[in-house]
Amino acid sequence: MSEYDVIVIGAGPGGYVCAIRAAQLGLKTAIVDKQWLGGVCLNVGCIPSKALLKNAEVAHTLRERGKEFGFSLENLTLDYGAAVKRSRQISDRLVKGVGFLMKKNSIDVHMGSARVAARDTVVVTDAEGKTSELKGSNIVIATGASVAVPPGWQIDGEKVVTYLEAILQEKLPRSAVVIGAGAIGVAAPARHFDNASPASQASPAPTPIGIVTGHTSIEIGSEAGRSSPKRLVGRASALL
Ligand SMILES: Cc1cc2nc3c(=O)[nH]c(=O)nc-3n(C[C@H](O)[C@H](O)[C@H](O)COP(=O)(O)OP(=O)(O)OC[C@H]3O[C@@H](n4cnc5c(N)ncnc54)[C@H](O)[C@@H]3O)c2cc1C
Repeated sequence: MSEYDVIVIGAGPGGYVCAIRAAQLGLKTAIVDKQWLGGVCLNVGCIPSKALLKNAEVAHTLRERGKEFGFSLENLTLDYGAAVKRSRQISDRLVKGVGFLMKKNSIDVHMGSARVAARDTVVVTDAEGKTSELKGSNIVIATGASVAVPPGWQIDGEKVVTYLEAILQEKLPRSAVVIGAGAIGVAAPARHFDNASPASQASPAPTPIGIVTGHTSIEIGSEAGRSSPKRLVGRASALL
């Protein structure tokens, strides 16, 4: 059985930074994660979403201000699949960086689902169902947050998705409604409009995105000059 001064459960930005600091202070440290190093932020959150927003910014500049910058672009085509591939490569690189930091700071990484079995005991179950027990004088729980799906909605991974499926999708939907106007919800339309290919006969223009929010009125542009704002305020319910 392995014994540690500190066991950190969860290797997101909360957990891995905590583990590094504990190790730097001279404490024997382990980190446990059931899925990935880097947590939501590096794998399916901040990093890939900012990579896709960068794509959107470049696409927007080329499309709307190309002439001003000295580009002459006829038949500009955009490959959203390539944008997603780029975002995955950036995520993978940073996740590898976290692995490197764990090694550099002599932090033991245990991949598996952790359960606190006693005040000083963490049981880790790996992907094959094998369990191991870790003893720790201190246990830090940094397991992050999970999606709050409103009652009645079924996440099918295609038509109804959470941020997670949306950020990994290699094809943009022709239209979408975003439920929730927090930081994650309001960034979705920019990704959608600016990364979408311009309208053509084969591929009509995307229809505007609406954002539904319980409290605030949000203005959303459509592809056509970012006009036709949609304001949808209220509670979204499923009629499936
Ligand atoms: C699309 C999107 C964009 C975002 N953009 C930004 C941004 O620009 N700036 C910003 O500051 N924040 C942003 N965020 C928020 C940011 O991702 C989170 O605040 C951050 O990831 C929280 O870190 P955390 O370590 O608390 O949790 P998480 O990153 O969720 O990590 C928790 C970890 O715990 C693991 N875990 C859970 N339960 C167990 C268990 N029982 N055993 C073992 N491991 C377990 C999970 O696998 C996970 O790796 C964004 C989020 C999303 C979804």
